[in-house]
Amino acid sequence: MARKGFIVDLNKPLVHQVGHLGETYQEWVHTPILTEKSHRFFKSDFMEMLSRTVWWVVPIVWLPVAFYFIRMSYTMGHTLLIVAILSVLGAFVWTFLEYSFHRFLFHIDTKSYWGNTFHYLIHGYHHKHPMDGLRLVIPPLEAALVIVMFWYMCRVLFTVSTGSALLGGGLVGYVIYDTTHFYLHHGHPNNHSLKSLKDGRWRAPPPDLERGEAGSPTVASSAAMDAENDGGRWVWLKLPLPISPKQRSGCDNR
Ligand SMILES: [Zn+2]
Ligand SMILES: [Zn+2]
Repeated sequence: MARKGFIVDLNKPLVHQVGHLGETYQEWVHTPILTEKSHRFFKSDFMEMLSRTVWWVVPIVWLPVAFYFIRMSYTMGHTLLIVAILSVLGAFVWTFLEYSFHRFLFHIDTKSYWGNTFHYLIHGYHHKHPMDGLRLVIPPLEAALVIVMFWYMCRVLFTVSTGSALLGGGLVGYVIYDTTHFYLHHGHPNNHSLKSLKDGRWRAPPPDLERGEAGSPTVASSAAMDAENDGGRWVWLKLPLPISPKQRSGCDNR
């Protein structure tokens, strides 16, 4: 269903269009739009609403759930020390999973209509619109599906008391990850160490590009973004990723 010479109309819902880009999709999706404008993804207002999330929803929704699971582990008989160790372990497992998702799934090379659409929905949108603050953290419904899946995996692999502490710890790790990720894009640190974290790991685009001020491009080339973003790919794990230059545009770890 890919169409030769297809050009995306940014004023129309994007999700149903990106598949038509075919082989040119990867280049398009890795040429970021550096304004904070939140483009429309879906025709349906309901789907559009589900695709946008303010960052503070993540700790508000998931920290109580994490606490519930960690507490469950304690009330089921584990000592506080064991619960703490399992929770920390869960957070490490999350870090490893996030790396694995990004490494093996989020950057798959797609060119078919549904392949492109799938890639755009799971991760491509973040490379295309890295400064869209409403499409940065994972929407709760999407996260819930993955978390339920992990819960069932824990139930298969461990006892309920062990699995619940691991999942609770993993959830805390996820909340720290997603809020830090948001902060690295949109935070304005005045503390020196936070500033160097932001400057060193994820470099925000220069103000003229970011705000799309008059006379400056709002869409930067991949090469320009590469220069800005050099070395800023991973936040939690400083692991090198063998990817092509075009794939290094956009962002770091989501
Ligand atoms: Zn990012
Ligand atoms: Zn990525």
